[in-house]
Amino acid sequence: MADHFPEVAGIDISMTYNQKGIRSLLRTFSFSPSSYAYFKVDCLCKDCNGGGFDLTQVITGMIRNRRKATKGELSCLGEGPAADHSAVVYEVAIRYT
Ligand SMILES: [Zn+2]
Repeated sequence: MADHFPEVAGIDISMTYNQKGIRSLLRTFSFSPSSYAYFKVDCLCKDCNGGGFDLTQVITGMIRNRRKATKGELSCLGEGPAADHSAVVYEVAIRYT
């Protein structure tokens, strides 16, 4: 990540999964300058084909504008039975050097 975004000291992502029939679940991810600049998070639905949640555009946009925090919603990118698919509410916090 330091190669791509040398001004970033760290990124914290929290994601709340809201999946049908399952209680919402909170997961958190932390990225440091030595992490890969790859901000894709797995989907939790079974039989998910090529799914996941890609925060790369959100994060690169934030860094470009030097935004420190944002939140929003994403739905799974994958294909499969729609009812099984999860959606997430995400919060991203970025610390700059
Ligand atoms: Zn999925």
